[in-house]
Amino acid sequence: MSDLIIKGNNILTPDGVRPAVVLVKGGRIHAIQADLPDDARTIVDIGDKVLMPGINDPHVHINEPGRTDWEGFDTATRAAIAGGITTLVDMPLNSSPVTTTVQAFEEKAHAATSQLHADCGYWGGIIPGNENEIAALINKGVPGFKAFLVHSGIDEFPNVTAADLEKAMPIIARHHLPLLVHCELTDSQPAIQENKRSYRQYMASRPQSWEQAAISLMIHLCEKYNCRVHIVHLSAADAIPQIIAAKEKGLPLTVETAQHYLYFNGEEVPDGNTSFKCAPPIRERENNQRLWEALKAGVIDFVATDHSPAPPELKALDTGDFTQAWGGIASLQLALPALWTAGRSRDVTLPQIAQWLCEKPAVLAGLQDRKGKIAMGYDADFVIWDPQRSFTVSAEGLYHKHKLTPYLNETLYGVVEQTYIRGIRVFDQGNFTLAQGKMILNTINKHD
Ligand SMILES: [Zn+2]
Repeated sequence: MSDLIIKGNNILTPDGVRPAVVLVKGGRIHAIQADLPDDARTIVDIGDKVLMPGINDPHVHINEPGRTDWEGFDTATRAAIAGGITTLVDMPLNSSPVTTTVQAFEEKAHAATSQLHADCGYWGGIIPGNENEIAALINKGVPGFKAFLVHSGIDEFPNVTAADLEKAMPIIARHHLPLLVHCELTDSQPAIQENKRSYRQYMASRPQSWEQAAISLMIHLCEKYNCRVHIVHLSAADAIPQIIAAKEKGLPLTVETAQHYLYFNGEEVPDGNTSFKCAPPIRERENNQRLWEALKAGVIDFVATDHSPAPPELKALDTGDFTQAWGGIASLQLALPALWTAGRSRDVTLPQIAQWLCEKPAVLAGLQDRKGKIAMGYDADFVIWDPQRSFTVSAEGLYHKHKLTPYLNETLYGVVEQTYIRGIRVFDQGNFTLAQGKMILNTINKHD
């Protein structure tokens, strides 16, 4: 007897979108079949709505403990399930302490206790001098590590140099875990922004050449140590040829971009509207079109939000000063509709959306055997959504701690109606159950 049966005309399976009946038992998918079983009791008939695997977002800044006034576990994971995200992996900054030691990892795990509405894992951080913590953090269950090649915005999370990575990467490689890297490398003459409200000048102050130089370094180190390298939030399309070349060589390199690089264009960002500030910046339309092509071609593996909120006062909205504003875009809840809205006019299909939001991100976090597919034995994590319906983004409809986002007042296609975690309906059109999320620990790569 199944605990839950979902029947629909548009079930997004690894073989495509088709009518099917999905049977759930003990929190997992135990069959996908054409007809209802004879003993069917609890049937959810979703008609023409889409049943997709729960979304996995491996790039989220939750900021708790220490900067819980920026964002916290309760609000972030509530927003996640309201957006159909069932698993996320939290970045090692901007919490305080940053997750660069075992003690900090334990503080974070403790802070999250009983607050998780979605499943949540924690990346470890690599900073200069913490190489002795790497093996211990892996034993605690981190699925990988994050490093910056440029100032992170947080002084207690300093960037690494190539020399630091030469120490860390052999250890990470031994455990077959990924190193996630913020790829910007400043050159000797950083551009000065004279008109601090000008978005064009802000874009120019963080040129594509910074990303290209950093990615070139990381490809070199990836090859040297045979260490999995993951480039987070690619914005510079000029870096695509070297990524293609590295992948053709068979290097263990993966790449993500973020929804805001695919949805917005730099030409449309109003001067002084610092809600758009992020690093690397949202670039010109022509650049972003090339990002879309690379995503469709599989050169960019997937899309993650890089949800990175801050209190509105840190965004310097009153002055509109791009040089002073905190860089980070809040968008977690809008991961699916932002990507779908930008994608549907580019002939993107539902299976592509599932690859980019569900299946490929699960691989980065080592969850490919449990999450990201509607397939037998996988966790019964689902989002039920309507690709035809649209809504207008309003502050009242967002569950993030702070409602400031460049998506405010945008009309987006793709309404998330229900979210399930391990067969439990945790979100239903604005209503939440008690928190059902669990801490996700990597258990397979611990020992040499
Ligand atoms: Zn980030």
